[in-house]
Amino acid sequence: MNYRLTALILLAACRSQPALAAEAAPPERPNVLFIMSDDHCAQAVSAYGGSLAQIAPTPNLDRLAEEGMLFRNCFVTNSICTPSRAVLFTGKYSHRNGVYKFTPLDQSQPTLPKLIRQAGYRTGFVGKWHLHSNPVGLDTWSILPGQGRYIDPQFVEMGDEHADGRVQRGKRTTYEGHSTDVVTDKTLAYLDNVGPKDGPFVLFCHFKATHDQFIYAPRYKELFANVTIPEPDNLFDDFATRSDALAKTTQYIGHPLNGMDFKRETGHIQDKTLRKKAQYQEYLKRYLRCVRGIDDNVGRILERLDRSGLAKNTIVVYTSDQGFFLGEHGLYDKRFMYEESLRIPLLVRWPGRVAPESVNRDIVLNVDFAPTILDAAGARPPRDVQGRSLLPLLQGDTPTDWRTSMYYRYYSSHFNTEPHWGVRTKTHKLIHFHRTGQWELYDLTKDPQEMNNVYADAAYAKTVAQLKAELNRLQTELGDDPADVGDEPRTGF
Ligand code: CA
Repeated sequence: MNYRLTALILLAACRSQPALAAEAAPPERPNVLFIMSDDHCAQAVSAYGGSLAQIAPTPNLDRLAEEGMLFRNCFVTNSICTPSRAVLFTGKYSHRNGVYKFTPLDQSQPTLPKLIRQAGYRTGFVGKWHLHSNPVGLDTWSILPGQGRYIDPQFVEMGDEHADGRVQRGKRTTYEGHSTDVVTDKTLAYLDNVGPKDGPFVLFCHFKATHDQFIYAPRYKELFANVTIPEPDNLFDDFATRSDALAKTTQYIGHPLNGMDFKRETGHIQDKTLRKKAQYQEYLKRYLRCVRGIDDNVGRILERLDRSGLAKNTIVVYTSDQGFFLGEHGLYDKRFMYEESLRIPLLVRWPGRVAPESVNRDIVLNVDFAPTILDAAGARPPRDVQGRSLLPLLQGDTPTDWRTSMYYRYYSSHFNTEPHWGVRTKTHKLIHFHRTGQWELYDLTKDPQEMNNVYADAAYAKTVAQLKAELNRLQTELGDDPADVGDEPRTGF
């Protein structure tokens, strides 16, 4: 090579350097504000429509849907509190993360807070933790021990934890007010203190509401006072065609064992039907007043993100740890694989990356949350994580091999609710109550309220065979052993 050509190549290389450097500059990594409520079902978020949307609107949550994506088919893999939080923090099903019921999460395993911190993020947690052991992998935290209190809540602050690892035994500090307001105050304080030059953050803001006993802030006392809340069509479900499980459970409205009989307000009503209707009204009004508290406080958070300038580079997620029955089948609470308990709200706003007013109908799961947050942070999830990143879906591009079915399993705990497992596709749901050997099949296209069990209908024999094969495939693929019933609860719920 002659001198002249070498010089030209060097000159070209030097000239191209600034352009290359500009192209290679990593994009600014987004902050993540992950807001999770407790037992807040999709049918009580007005962006999802339904019979409560008019009477109990949630304009601030709806704003996230208007400015981002609403997921219509987001489901949990085990509809119960502590196990669902363990799924969030591990990206694994209960049988893999070790939390089947109400046992502490073993935080020696890779968890989302630890992994996201390793990726260079600041990590904070405020509110309901409910994993029964001291937080690990967080730069700052302030948590409600156990279920926490609704009014004048006590918190265990980072630094006040007990050395034995049990968060319930940490030193508690009492804050005046309603827990939703106090958790929000702490969230705002965090946002006010994050310097933009100190790197991106993930903040978990976890409300205690709308968990029972549905104690709302006093300012909502008159909300719905003169209103009749619409009843679901199947409030008086007689459980015909279904397995024994619905008749056996105590998690229905009016049952004296679960505190849902509202004896003081409705005990004087002699007529059983009228009494149940009154119990439903009392239940829904308390629940929806808690929802209003969440919505108002999410409004405060969104306003602060706007005012601080953080909004433009912060992913805001709103979801719940699982769904909830609001009188459907006469039930309250969760646990069952039926739609209201299985489905959770999922709203994601990410300015510039997620199209406003977008709606996704793919089957997505809470096991996907951890890999999604890690993906957004530019970090690779561990190989044994069982969920998938939602980033392609958020950008309107569902991979061709995205799941078309999901696996569910509930292990026994309270309310005499039978353990079961099942599979849901976009059109059908097969549930197996394995202790009693009973099955239920629903054709969701014809029977979205799951009132007609068609398992024994000969017209569905082929569908049953296909779904049983799919159930077996999922159990094998996910490594779940049907004989594995999990540990017995070691801590209270
Ligand atoms: Ca819950």
